[in-house]
Amino acid sequence: MPTALITGITGQDGAYLAQLLLGNGYRVLGLLRRSASSDIIGERLRWLGILDHIELLDGDMGDLGSLVRIIEKHRPDEVYNLAAQSFVASSWQQPLLTGMVTGLGAVNVLEAVRLAAPRARFYQASSSEMFGRIQAAQQNERTPFYPRSPYAAAKLYAHWMTVNYRESFSLHASSGILFNHESPLRGIEFVTRKITDGVARIRLGLARELCLGNLEAKRDWGHARDYVRAMWLMLQQKAPGDYVVATGRSTSVGEFCRIAFAHAGLDHREFVRVDPALFRPAEVDALKGDAAKARQVLGWAPEVGLEALAAEMVEADLARHRARQKTG
Ligand code: NDP
Ligand code: GDP
Repeated sequence: MPTALITGITGQDGAYLAQLLLGNGYRVLGLLRRSASSDIIGERLRWLGILDHIELLDGDMGDLGSLVRIIEKHRPDEVYNLAAQSFVASSWQQPLLTGMVTGLGAVNVLEAVRLAAPRARFYQASSSEMFGRIQAAQQNERTPFYPRSPYAAAKLYAHWMTVNYRESFSLHASSGILFNHESPLRGIEFVTRKITDGVARIRLGLARELCLGNLEAKRDWGHARDYVRAMWLMLQQKAPGDYVVATGRSTSVGEFCRIAFAHAGLDHREFVRVDPALFRPAEVDALKGDAAKARQVLGWAPEVGLEALAAEMVEADLARHRARQKTG
């Protein structure tokens, strides 16, 4: 039975990846940082019904010793580094923490793998945010990077360190340059989930409006379940590499609003308000990925389209709020 270690297992992708790996017959270990709110830890894993099938191990991205000890003891075959301070907007408020967790944290994991399990296969969660102020209308593995936030700069450092560990130490280290991917398990601070939660509240009479920032920004949104499949496929390849993972369709925040509100029978123009305070110091105006390499080499293709994704998210948020209303 192969063993996989996932950092960031309590996040959106960690939960879906754990579910995929369990289904593929893996023993799944997850890094868990200590929290005073231990009663709500693992909410996403519980939602997927897999919490009891995972071994959670005490450690932190900032603590190299904990990472070395875990990897030394369990000798995983595959290590997926998904942990990060992952919210772009927060990265301007906490640039140093973002650099430490999202940037240096990745190097801690790479070091731990190099020291304790150099034959393990390593996955780094790189991001389309690294393209930032885009240098090509559609971005692929050869497009130059231009990060536009402390988050993107930290991810770019981690990305290049992954490439360097591959080239310097012959680690089987791959990097997935993933475009935005969403699901009912997406953090509520991200725009798609904020919108679908807002739609559910308005539909159920719990709110009257939804305040958003820049409605013109465009993203290439896919479903997280599709994207974790690409991560796994990267580590099944004989040779490591870097892959863009995207749908190739770019949609504005305003258009996502239209789709999500329409799913609940509402007209978004009646409810969405623009709050200039929610605009960012520097914006990534538009992203659109070209996943031709992932399609050709990994045989990967997204299965869920944007309308189905929005519908699934709205339905899940309606169900959550209805359940809360019932329990008072
Ligand atoms: P989430 O924000 O949902 O999850 C982040 C995870 O990192 C959580 O499990 C969190 O733990 C953990 N974490 C944060 N800080 C630490 C720390 N100091 N020590 C240990 N664990 C820590 O992110 P997603 O699941 O959406 O994304 C997964 C990865 O992919 C991230 O690296 C993200 O930046 C990247 N990415 C995501 C994209 C997307 O669209 N979702 C696009 C491209 C890249 P806790 O639960 O305790 O907070
Ligand atoms: P990101 O691409 O990782 O930054 O993902 P987000 O979901 O946080 O943001 C996507 C885009 O939505 C960005 O261009 C934001 O400026 C834009 N946006 C507009 N209004 C909001 C909002 O209220 N919250 C968030 N998170 N983003 C918003």
